[in-house]
Amino acid sequence: MERGCLLSKFENKEILSRVLESIKTKINGFNYNNWFQHASFSFTNETNVEVIVPNKFVRDWISDNYLELLKFEFFKACHNEITLSFKIQAPSQTQVAAEEKQVQKTQPKTKQRKENPAQASLFSPQVQARQALQGLNERYSFKDFVVGSSNQFVSAACQAVAQNPGKNYNPLFIYGGVGLGKTHLLNAIGLEALRKNPHTRLVYVSGEEFTNEVINSIRYDKTYQLRRKYRDNCDLLLIDDVQFIAGKERTMEEFFHTFNALYESRKQIIMTSDSLPKDIQNLAERLRSRFSWGLLADIQKPDFETRCAILQKKSEQENIQLRSEVCNYIAEHVQTNVRDLEGCLVRISAFASLASLPITIQLASEVLKDYLQGFHSNLSIDKIQKAVATYYNLKVPDLKSKRRHRNLALPRQIAMYLCKKHVKASYPNIGQEFGGKDHTTVIHAYQKISKVIDSDDSIQNDISKIESKLSML
Ligand code: ADP
Ligand code: MG
Repeated sequence: MERGCLLSKFENKEILSRVLESIKTKINGFNYNNWFQHASFSFTNETNVEVIVPNKFVRDWISDNYLELLKFEFFKACHNEITLSFKIQAPSQTQVAAEEKQVQKTQPKTKQRKENPAQASLFSPQVQARQALQGLNERYSFKDFVVGSSNQFVSAACQAVAQNPGKNYNPLFIYGGVGLGKTHLLNAIGLEALRKNPHTRLVYVSGEEFTNEVINSIRYDKTYQLRRKYRDNCDLLLIDDVQFIAGKERTMEEFFHTFNALYESRKQIIMTSDSLPKDIQNLAERLRSRFSWGLLADIQKPDFETRCAILQKKSEQENIQLRSEVCNYIAEHVQTNVRDLEGCLVRISAFASLASLPITIQLASEVLKDYLQGFHSNLSIDKIQKAVATYYNLKVPDLKSKRRHRNLALPRQIAMYLCKKHVKASYPNIGQEFGGKDHTTVIHAYQKISKVIDSDDSIQNDISKIESKLSML
């Protein structure tokens, strides 16, 4: 007969303590004390364990971050699928207040994904448990990372390291500006390494979390545990925003020894940073040189085509209907980084759905008005004329001339349209700057281009490209 999980109270206790012991070795002591110390567990039947927590914060946090890990540990201990239910056992008011304060204070800043039960996970239960354990985000996988010329090299390096950790590029140092995908790639390496080998002992941590762990290990006299975690029990160290440790003496010292221990035992180290090692201020010299021992890979701003591909991918993922001309429009205008690109897409789609309107260029430009203001304010008629002339291989005097050949007339009208759109100038003023033309000519140009822009893809494309050049001035 299949022996269930429940045999006797004694065995239940055994199982519970085995599960907690195992969890204790897998998450850092700080987190364990915060989340598990105040929770108790009890079997309600053979396949369900009730998690009794003091408040909803602890419940939500355990449920969001450790559910998979708990299920995995119970599965291991019982050889049976165990479901978990939560019960809040209200302590006194003062206790609740104190605990909530504590929970808010210690909540890690990393973005946590809410589980979507409708969406089946790509990863096996073991890998999911490990991911939950490591705080990896399943959404940040290689599959979801759009590769273009700006990140081709770094993404290939990350793939190589994920396939063969500790072999070729050690350490791998990824650097670049904010919102360009460093954290995404670091996560992707972790996910891929776990997918290949679920037993990989990886540690994924930010420079800030590492610093906090060092501080706590000193304060609570737990440096031994810290060393075990980072030096002895780690095959793959993923450290995000490593520049954070610069200037923090004890943290740099601890990281120096960690680095040496891992490097010598051919364990892979991957770091991300906002700048090159040589440009990180207050970084100890010996770390600076070590950071450059392996491969330095930079991640650059995505080009127009990559921005479009990213927008298309995100809109597919989020079920947003994005016509190609609107996609081009956003990609042309939002050039700072991928995070901004995503933010603008979300803003546009939220606006469209609230107002029950389709996403058009007009709607996008309306929503992005504030965002785009910065670039409009720099422009002058003169700059626009130069940009248009350069784009069409013409000279500025051609635009100002009276010649009406189509090769000149269309660029001239586009230049007038852009002046009206981006510069605070009246129609007569603009006419004046185009060789003394009448204001009705400018009005006609503006109206004509405004009309054709939605129907003529090639004109729309030309205008987007010119605007993109203008935004970089
Ligand atoms: P960083 O760590 O460099 O500041 P992130 O990795 O946090 O940037 O990326 C910001 C956002 O942009 C994330 O949501 C990430 O998924 C997304 N992102 C960045 N680059 C890409 C890319 N090439 N393809 C798809 N999404 C990307
Ligand atoms: Mg980051």
